[in-house]
This record gives sequence, C-alpha cells and structure tokens, in this order.
Amino acid sequence: MTRVVRTYLDYNATAPLRPQAREAMLAALDAAGNPSSVHAEGRRARAIVEAARETVAALVGARPSEVIFTSGATEAASTVLHRRWQTIVLAPVEHPCVTGPALASEGRVRELPIARDGRLDPETLRGAIAGEIERGTPAAQMVVALQLANNETGIVQDVAALSAIAKEAGAFVVCDAVQAAGRIAIDRDALGCDFLMLSSHKLGGPKGIGALIVREGAPLSPLLIGGGQEKRRRAGTENVEAIAGFGAAAQAAATETGQRAHLVAGLRDALESGLRRMSPGLVVVGVDVERLPNTSLVVSPGRRSETTVISLDMAGVAVSSGSACASGKVSRSPVLAAMGFGDDIAQGAVRFSLGWATTQEDIERCLQAWSSIRPADKGSDLTAA
Ligand code: PLP
Repeated sequence: MTRVVRTYLDYNATAPLRPQAREAMLAALDAAGNPSSVHAEGRRARAIVEAARETVAALVGARPSEVIFTSGATEAASTVLHRRWQTIVLAPVEHPCVTGPALASEGRVRELPIARDGRLDPETLRGAIAGEIERGTPAAQMVVALQLANNETGIVQDVAALSAIAKEAGAFVVCDAVQAAGRIAIDRDALGCDFLMLSSHKLGGPKGIGALIVREGAPLSPLLIGGGQEKRRRAGTENVEAIAGFGAAAQAAATETGQRAHLVAGLRDALESGLRRMSPGLVVVGVDVERLPNTSLVVSPGRRSETTVISLDMAGVAVSSGSACASGKVSRSPVLAAMGFGDDIAQGAVRFSLGWATTQEDIERCLQAWSSIRPADKGSDLTAA
C-alpha cells in the first residue's frame, strides 16, 4: 500500500510543534520541582519558567514582569474582560474568545461595523468612543478590543493608529495578537495597548499555554484566584513543560520573523497564482490591504467550503473552511458577513495557512490536489441557504 504524503496548510488552526519546542519540553519534564519551592529542584523549575518569560516578552517588546502565563489566549481574554468594564467596544472580526466573555460580562458591548476591506475605520472608532462617553461611560471604565490580524482572512488592522484614538480619549486597549505573533514583527509599545494576548500553539509551541501581557499599572481582576503564582495575577501551579515549549517556540519565531515571513509570502503568492490559473473565478479575500504573509482565504463561488475541505483532505491536503466551525457544525462566518460578503461567497471560503515548515513541495502538492478536485469545474453543490 502506498503511503499518502500529507501536506499541512492549517497553521492558523495550530502550527506543528517546532523541534526546539519539543526539545525544551522534554528537558523540562525532568525538572522535578514546583517553581514555588525554595529548594534546588524548585529553583530549577523556576529558572525554566523565568527564561521562557524573557523570550515571550522579547517577542513583543514587553518587560518579563508584564508577562502572565495562562492556559491560552482564551483565558487571557477572559481575564481582561470578565469584569470591571462599563463598556466594551469591539468589531465583528474579533475571535469568539473576545466576543464571548464581552457578551457574558456585565458591561455594555458596543459593536462597530467594519469596512468592506475588512478594516476598522479610525473615525468610526473615534465616534463610537465619544458616543459612549456622552452616554455616561467614564473613559477609564471603557476597554476597546483591537485584533491585530484576523484568523480567517489574515487581514491586519492598523492597531497603532486605532489604539492612539482610544488612549487619547482615556480608554484602555486589549489587543489579540495571536495570529500575528511570530508572523509579523510586534512592538507592544508601538501598538500602544494595555493588554496583549498570545497563544503558543499558533507559533509552533504546545497547545494549552499562552500569555497575557499587562502593561505596568493597567487594572486587572484575576480570573483564577487561590495561590500567589504569577504575582497573584493567575493562581495555579505553572505548567512548566508547556511554558518551556512556548518560550522555545517564541525564541525560534523571533529569530526567523523577517526572512521566513518573506519566504512564506512568496510561497503563499505562488499558491494563489496557481489556484487562480486553474480556477479563474476564484476570489482571494483581502488582496488590497495588508495581510499576514502566511494566510490565504479563497472563495470558489458555487462550491461549499466543506466539500472542498473534505476533497482536499482525501487528496492529502489539510486546510480549513473559512467559516466558523464549532462542535462540528459549520456556520456562516461573522467576519465575511461583516465585510459584506453574501452567503453564496461566505459558504465557499477555504483558508490556506502556511508556516515555519512549509516548503515549495507542499505548495506543488496542494496545487496538484486542487487540480484533481478542481472545485470550479466540477459543477455546483451550493444551494441558497
Ligand atoms: N484569537 C485568535 C485570533 C485565534 O485564532 C485563536 C485561536 O483560534 C484564539 C484567539 C484563541 O487562542 P487559544 O487557542 O490559545 O485559546
């Protein structure tokens, strides 16, 4: 039986574990102590945690003391948003880990429209903040959520400009940098945010670990209360192995950011031109604005995304549907809907996302697979929803 070579192009869901992360995790498994213990074993575990804190901080230009390790970006977002805010301002491009706790909080949620190009207009934000202040929310009781790069489209927001508007008014800013980290350079100070969320598994570290970076002096109500870990900002014994892997992945990502991003963008462009040559009706979302170098959301009108994703999977290529998928049910993508795409387009979206291990051969195999399933030429299975 011949073994099918798999091609993995779903880095925005989870990036494969980097060898440096695996190695650091294996070494950390042998550190017996609890990082809170004062003996030599405890101090060894503590040293692993603190070394990782430094590399994670360096990835985004923050201070190590500002890094709180969490179980992921979802916990980081919940920590910021679960209480304290009278008004939470956000756009529909935000990940459910931001919209979920915002809607569940006692605060009022102000949702802003986005432009057709997927970007948030600075004047829309300025008007909304002024409106909320006029309605009675003190600026210091308001937080604005700004996503740096979108998980579906890869579209990058001008967080520095948007954040300056919020800060000028006196509001706080929380930035979801999960998809941008390790793919484009991030300078937390230039972005001007008070809180920044990171997730290890998107940059080649293990799953179930992430970080909340809190600017010194920014108000925080811990989500997990108990022991005094993470300077009383997140209770619970630190996941030393996962933190070690996260630190190693952050360091590897930081070293390669510029040159690798350039390479990945070249592979992504080759993929898009190849797809377009075979399927002239194909639409690439976000081509006119700044996008992550690794992400390509394409739409083949007349074919449901699930059909394409399953056919590609059977041909050995792992990609994602552009639609939000929860509990196995594919629903309409709020991101594409907010950009003004109709159901016929939104239901045909397929996301290719590349990363640290993607090669030219992967792109060639993917194009070969696409040619064998050729969505646009094999008729339509799309009926109006
Ligand atoms: N934010 C974005 C943009 C994401 O893509 C994801 C993961 O899909 C998250 C947040 C949540 O990250 P985590 O898996 O660490 O909770």
